[in-house]
Amino acid sequence: DIARYEKKRARIIGPMSWQLRFVRTGIPDVIVIDEQCIYTNLTEEARRIGAVIIATTDKAMRGLPDRTHADPDNVVEELVTGKIPGAVILNEEEAAEVAVKVALKIAPQRIKYKWGLLTRDQVIEYAKKCSMCRNCERNCPQNLSISSAIVRAAKGDLAGLTELYKRCFACRRCEYDCPRGIPVLSLILASARDIMGFEVYKCRAGRGPIQDTEIRAVGRDIVLGTIPGVVAFVGCANWPDGAQDVAVMAREFASRRYIVVASGCSAMALSMYKNEEGKTPYEEFSGVFEAGGIVNVGSCVANSHIAGAAIKIANIFAKLPLRANYAEIADYILNRVGAVGVAWGAMSQKAAAIASGFWRLGVPVIVGPHGIKYRRMLLGDRDAEESWYGYDAITGEKVYLGPAPEHLFYAAETLEEAMVMIPKLCIRPADTPQGRAIKLTNYISLYKQFYGVDKLPSDIHLYIRFDADIPIPYRDEVVRYLNEVGWREKPAVSNPTIMEDIIEKYRLRREGAKV
Ligand code: SF4
Ligand code: SF4
Repeated sequence: DIARYEKKRARIIGPMSWQLRFVRTGIPDVIVIDEQCIYTNLTEEARRIGAVIIATTDKAMRGLPDRTHADPDNVVEELVTGKIPGAVILNEEEAAEVAVKVALKIAPQRIKYKWGLLTRDQVIEYAKKCSMCRNCERNCPQNLSISSAIVRAAKGDLAGLTELYKRCFACRRCEYDCPRGIPVLSLILASARDIMGFEVYKCRAGRGPIQDTEIRAVGRDIVLGTIPGVVAFVGCANWPDGAQDVAVMAREFASRRYIVVASGCSAMALSMYKNEEGKTPYEEFSGVFEAGGIVNVGSCVANSHIAGAAIKIANIFAKLPLRANYAEIADYILNRVGAVGVAWGAMSQKAAAIASGFWRLGVPVIVGPHGIKYRRMLLGDRDAEESWYGYDAITGEKVYLGPAPEHLFYAAETLEEAMVMIPKLCIRPADTPQGRAIKLTNYISLYKQFYGVDKLPSDIHLYIRFDADIPIPYRDEVVRYLNEVGWREKPAVSNPTIMEDIIEKYRLRREGAKV
């Protein structure tokens, strides 16, 4: 949010996993925290570099003394002299005043800490203490080959540690269980000093809600399926193979004319990629909520704007009433709005709660491999034909809608698997033939890209209702496959619903009732 108002002077450090990286560089003089995604031991880390913590909400006070009602100059004095390591200041103006005054006073005293990463010799000395017990590796959620990198470092070769930097998300779990007290993360950071200095990217400022005018411009194409989908990259920084993967996915889908939105750590990750012209995805694609646009809605909390966009489509485009009408809107989104959330680095309970908020609204969510630890997936069985029936809201007839979307919460093990799953989960029962063919073109094309040019997805016949749904670029191949599997035409339903009582609502509305 700071970057929205201070475009020139504010700098974004990076996603959550860069918090500790940045603190360990010794650069910050004052660390102001709010309520979420804060390292539990941040106060201890700050103390080691002589920095000061200011807590600004009563939800994360970190055991610091409350100085909300104290004279700001006295608080500054207490902090600068080290009488207290930090303070809780619940008044924003006072917190700002104290933060600035303290920073100006302690910065000159803290010169020795700035870029105070370990030296090469210190890294080698620490590495020599390693007993090769591999506790660090067993504790590392990324399963990084830490011990072999440390053995190389002990011989003076730091390249192995440097290589760990990209995939390490600074959780510090390796350090907790090292019997020799080796600060493994600090060793990795010191070995990546030259990389860190050049990590400069341009990130589009978080823009807040999607405007009604934007929804009016694209709502129809989203519902008809001619914009193949809205893909939201959200969630934390537990990326299995570095932040760049989020950008790779976002670029692919923006290039395919999907609408891409992003928030929180993923919005920052998106900027950590440069194409051959040196441009980040934000410089490459427009910031408008349109086909081929990449919109940064803002922080993780701004995910509500993504849900809001889906709700607005139901409200503005289909004129569904908003008040006390959650179920009908969710049913509308599930059956018509081809939106998918991708939380590639999902980690926190907050991310799980956000995912639940989306899937109950009818938006499927894909998480990365670490998301499996949530131990709760919502998977459909595409072959259980009886599970995929719903109703035609106009006639009340029970009809086959197909496995669209097949899953509501899915953990993908690889980037490739996620990229094939995204277009598939954008398919909706209400797609027009043209829209369905566009969605299937993307599904088949990505499948071929990652699984082989001579292959077709084995479930493609479930999504083809009649001849006009067949994607033209793959027509001959798909027709051959349909003949092989004994495919038969299926009904197309322009007003699908999975809720029986919606049929009655539609009838009453046709008679002019305001329901
Ligand atoms: S800080 Fe990095 S190396 Fe250490 S456990 Fe976490 S991810 Fe693994
Ligand atoms: S836990 Fe410590 S001693 Fe054991 S292998 Fe890792 S760095 Fe070496």
